[in-house]
Amino acid sequence: MTGPEVEPVPPRSRGTIGLLEENCTVCMLCARECPDWCLHIEGHTELAPPERPGGRPRVRNVLDRFAVDFSLCMYCGICIEVCPFDALFWAPELVPAETSRPALVEERDVLREWLAAVPPPPPLDPLAEPAEEVAAAERLDRVAAERAQR
Ligand code: SF4
Ligand code: SF4
Repeated sequence: MTGPEVEPVPPRSRGTIGLLEENCTVCMLCARECPDWCLHIEGHTELAPPERPGGRPRVRNVLDRFAVDFSLCMYCGICIEVCPFDALFWAPELVPAETSRPALVEERDVLREWLAAVPPPPPLDPLAEPAEEVAAAERLDRVAAERAQR
């Protein structure tokens, strides 16, 4: 006996939430804005070496826990929209069915695995202005090339 066939999830679906840990600064903005209080984030601060010799050590946040309670999540997408550091993405995966609410809390290792399913962003319009960072880098390259010719 086989179970029901599961249709593939369309690539831009709001299926699950993928976390790119490297981009997360533990700013807590997503947790504060989530209307259902379903994000559990914990972190601590560490001293990092100064940027230049003689400078003061920097304080940086380190992520200890990032979990989403999918028994509460209503898939509004506010957490993804408000993250200033592009650490959260919709992934076209299905949250595994569970029989208890605590089992629907997914931790950072699972959220990271879902990242693999996140589709790349759509290509830019070929006639669009280049992104600000790209335009700035091209300006710097032009200035450097002009200086080298003098
Ligand atoms: S808003 Fe983004 S950077 Fe801030 S804690 Fe949430 S995921 Fe991390
Ligand atoms: S999608 Fe909405 S409800 Fe779900 S974790 Fe994000 S902000 Fe909270």
